[in-house]
Amino acid sequence: MTLAHVLGYPRIGADRELKKATEAYWKGESDREALEATGRELRQRHWAAQREAGLDLVTVGDFAFYDQVLDVSTLLGAVPDRFAAGDELARGEVDLDTAFRMARGRAPSGEPAAACEMTKYFDTNYHYLVPELHPGQRFRLASSRLFDEVEEARADGHAVKVALTGPLTWLWLGKARGEAAETFDRLSLLDEVLEVYGQVLTRLADQGVSWVQLDEPALVQDLPPAWQQAYERAYHRLQAAPVKLLLSTYFGGLGDNLSLTVGLPVDGLHLDAVRAPEQVEVVVDRLLPHKVLSLGVIDGRNVWRADLAALREWLTPLAARLGERLWLAPSCSLLHVPVDLAAEPESRELDAELKGWLAFARQKLDETVLLGRALDARLTAGDEARLAEAGEALAARRASPRIHRPAVAERLAAVTAADSERASPHGGRARAQRRRLDLPLFPTTTIGSFPQTAEIRQARRAHKAGELSGADYEARMEAEIAAAVARQEALGLDMLVHGEAERNDMVEYFGERLDGFAFTRFGWVQSYGSRCVKPPILFGDVARPAPMTVRWSRYAQSLTERPMKGMLTGPVTVLQWSFVRDDQPRATTCRQIALALRDEVADLEAAAIAAIQIDEPALREGLPLRSAEWQGYLDWAVDCFRLTAAVADDATQIHTHMCYSEFNDIIAAIAALDADVITIETSRSDMELLDAFRDFDYPNEIGPGVYDIHSPNLPEVDWMVTLMDKAAERIAVDRLWVNPDCGLKTRGWAEVEPALANMVEAARILRERH
Ligand code: GLN
Ligand code: ZN
Repeated sequence: MTLAHVLGYPRIGADRELKKATEAYWKGESDREALEATGRELRQRHWAAQREAGLDLVTVGDFAFYDQVLDVSTLLGAVPDRFAAGDELARGEVDLDTAFRMARGRAPSGEPAAACEMTKYFDTNYHYLVPELHPGQRFRLASSRLFDEVEEARADGHAVKVALTGPLTWLWLGKARGEAAETFDRLSLLDEVLEVYGQVLTRLADQGVSWVQLDEPALVQDLPPAWQQAYERAYHRLQAAPVKLLLSTYFGGLGDNLSLTVGLPVDGLHLDAVRAPEQVEVVVDRLLPHKVLSLGVIDGRNVWRADLAALREWLTPLAARLGERLWLAPSCSLLHVPVDLAAEPESRELDAELKGWLAFARQKLDETVLLGRALDARLTAGDEARLAEAGEALAARRASPRIHRPAVAERLAAVTAADSERASPHGGRARAQRRRLDLPLFPTTTIGSFPQTAEIRQARRAHKAGELSGADYEARMEAEIAAAVARQEALGLDMLVHGEAERNDMVEYFGERLDGFAFTRFGWVQSYGSRCVKPPILFGDVARPAPMTVRWSRYAQSLTERPMKGMLTGPVTVLQWSFVRDDQPRATTCRQIALALRDEVADLEAAAIAAIQIDEPALREGLPLRSAEWQGYLDWAVDCFRLTAAVADDATQIHTHMCYSEFNDIIAAIAALDADVITIETSRSDMELLDAFRDFDYPNEIGPGVYDIHSPNLPEVDWMVTLMDKAAERIAVDRLWVNPDCGLKTRGWAEVEPALANMVEAARILRERH
């Protein structure tokens, strides 16, 4: 019989119960007991769902109040000194508040301290807390949460499998801070870490757990030889534990780590058979006869219903070969998809037909079980009907005219290389733009958004609820824009923005105005801690029925003599922050978005907007997990940006914005975007990241952010002048702009106005100096 399981289930709850409970606890509106009770309830409910669906094992260990990587850090006692009182550090259990302080800097109890770094988990939009490591670090078993959860599940009568981030991936995700960072070898800590993992496994075995899943997604990345050897060493040591180990890999193929991984002395191996189906046959041929093979065949990273018939056909011979040793699962933890489609009402944004094409976490459990029964030839009549229905939904989706718009395909086919080329190279364009814009040296601007005030959000809510008419809503937004323009003029900024008052979210706003996108009401996915996002669902060919931003930009420009910057979200970012169709390459989908945005650029230009910013904050995070695949991705991503922008005349200035500070390895691609101006995050790196631009002889204009908008502190004039002086050592002054690091939507005007006043003053001083 084929065994069905999941690597992990979303913990936030179908109604975001976890978010609400943790936030109430942080605010002091509820106590620890209430929070723990919600946690217990959610775990119970999620195990029950797995059991009801017919999974053979329920997964314990995927729950976390904040982050599962953080929970491993507390399990191992890897708590930086600044967070724990001496006692707790030396002996005690790591308290939940200590974990919250590691995550957020503060908690209802304990002294505030600088939070640990948070970053994206592999190529997902989920953020984990980076384990903080240092030379000679000691570890100890410092939390019993995991064991308590195992008891809970057993008390409910479940057959338990425990899931835990593996020791090498935990170290791989970790970092040393400060001076040690450069030279520190994380592997020097491996033996100590393994010691504690060994204790954890023994204790789980004592609790009667037979299977422990150790997540090692680092195996789908390029590993240095020392790390490959460390895998052998680590798993030889862990095999002594009296439990069975399932080594799980996901988000890609094993590539050159395949032989290594197949040879590790574990009892089972999980493969991502969605992202890397080609590795399955190879592994089956080489797998030792006692090992279990868990195939992740249901897409854990996307929201589409699986093609169960095709999977059945593919897997039938494998099932015959492997028998009991074949396990089925989604490709990765279901953490990365929304919880339950059944909670989703049919609406204008997601009608019955579209809904029929989707499967969220709860539905993916059913798919996994159903497929297993099909392979075992033990389908009930009900199962047969469900299989047939799944097949029909899939066929309907494939044939739907809502997906295939011939005009979009024709237009895409007619695109030529020339469409991605501006008329002149940057030098000539810069001259035309200078004549048109007449800006001073060190021109000042902002990144686009101004504070999303309570009134703005209230107006949008009222409008959505039908309590505020379209005309009234627009009038309110125009008033916001007018106020933002007046404030910018008074501050003396050189290039203005309209402020993005009308945007709920930089991707959703465009998705709502493009054909081919659907939206959910409850399709939340955890992004970090209590923060959830609701990505649009890009289901079909993308087209732009009407201009999306022109009326706001035109209105804003009508209020001022100063140049108004149009504001668009770039194609790669729209792609990256949506669930996208799986029936064509991402590159093709991205090109469609680019063509739609290209029309918006043309319309903004026709409305006499002289500068247009195309934001691409997600360009970098789209990089594949294997460096050999980077160039292929960058080629199409860059081309999509250029295709969007290149319709602009020489005299129209194209800006782009990226809010991160790692450019060294992608500088050639950044240059290839050929944006006339790029604004980037730099204030925290002391302008050192401009070295990459200097060394590359980056030819276009740059606005290195002079202050960190995430900090509530007022940036001082001298500080910004000093930063720009450092920038001027690297980049010619006639190519430098002065701007904040990122958009200001999360700040209040009380902070924004004095900060920008200081920034404008800094620019004035710089102009005098140069
Ligand atoms: N224009 C957007 C804003 O100012 C850019 C946001 C971003 O970079 N993430 O909010
Ligand atoms: Zn930004």
